[in-house]
Amino acid sequence: MDDLRAQLFTLLQQKEAELIRIRRHFHEHPELSFQETETAKYIADFYADKDCDVQTKVGGGNGILVDIHGGKKGPFLAIRADFDALPIQEDTGLPFASRTPNVMHACGHDGHTAYMMILAASLIELKDQLAGTIRIIHQPAEEVPPGGAKGMIEAGCLDGVDHVLGIHVMSMMPLGDVLYHAGSVHTGRATFKVVMHGKGGHGSTPQDANDTIVAASQFVTAVQTIVSRRIDPFDTATVTIGSFDGKGSANVIKDSVTLEGDVRIMKEETRAIVEKEFKQILSGICQSFGISYELDYANDYPVCVNDAKTTEMVAKALNEAKIPEVKQLVKCGPQTPSEDFAYYAKERPSCFFFVGAHKEGTPMYPHHHPKFYIDEDCLLIAAKSMGAAVLYYLFEGVSL
Ligand code: MN
Repeated sequence: MDDLRAQLFTLLQQKEAELIRIRRHFHEHPELSFQETETAKYIADFYADKDCDVQTKVGGGNGILVDIHGGKKGPFLAIRADFDALPIQEDTGLPFASRTPNVMHACGHDGHTAYMMILAASLIELKDQLAGTIRIIHQPAEEVPPGGAKGMIEAGCLDGVDHVLGIHVMSMMPLGDVLYHAGSVHTGRATFKVVMHGKGGHGSTPQDANDTIVAASQFVTAVQTIVSRRIDPFDTATVTIGSFDGKGSANVIKDSVTLEGDVRIMKEETRAIVEKEFKQILSGICQSFGISYELDYANDYPVCVNDAKTTEMVAKALNEAKIPEVKQLVKCGPQTPSEDFAYYAKERPSCFFFVGAHKEGTPMYPHHHPKFYIDEDCLLIAAKSMGAAVLYYLFEGVSL
């Protein structure tokens, strides 16, 4: 395996310029979730002359599956990269900045897809020496519920698959770090929209109105007690009101107000507690103010749970590979964002791990920021890290 890994790393190194070129192409031409038709076409074209099985329009969407069959029999591993962008106006000033107004690759999915294509091309060149099957899941629509992963799974992308791996590049983590965590690694999520209906009126005669802003303000305050008073201090939850639509004239009492927000949890058991308390507080406050309401409360991404053995396998693979560009392996603990990779991890033992992308002296902004920036050296690290994990998996497997 050592020799094969050396061959793989040489191929990846040789293809680094192409990797950067592909990433910049995607970066210049971002597409929103569920609309990534050109991105999907570009990916499919890349594989057209390569010795692999390609399925396009998986599940009627933009998903692509690429199967690489090794020369010998062995396990079936799926590795996933997402490729959708965000409704954000890019403000990086990069020469390859988005050409599409209000659409930007601000989460690094351009990089995920580029490194994955180059890794796939390299594995295809070595496929006679491989034992088992590797399925590349090129997944659309990670950013928007219900999430592209769901559709891919419903279309059968995990049929026969034993394990799943994925990587996210991280703009706030140091370049050279590869990070992992066994167990719950990303939060599960719910989003909500509340519309409260009262009675409009004039500020000079409040007795004739029923003020939704006052009721909604009480609700915003009361809902904070879910986390502080109802959740075990050793568990994690957040309840955020991100939008409170109260704008209007200074002397007019509004007849309705709309609140929107989201919930994050680190254990699925916590999900039901937050939802129940949320509904109880909402109905209680609206009742006490004599106000009616409509609630749309939608649970979406599950908690993403990394399988202990699969994560241990990834750590071993990275330890053995001694990737020169990797300075350290870090047990990073759980991360608060949510990821639709969670759906794969629910179905198969999986590991989703992280590659640091912030180089000292370069811009550092969080994901989904208009100035989001990654150092492109992280992409070769991602390709080598995933490549090392793939080879270790095929030859050593996941210990039982
Ligand atoms: Mn992302």
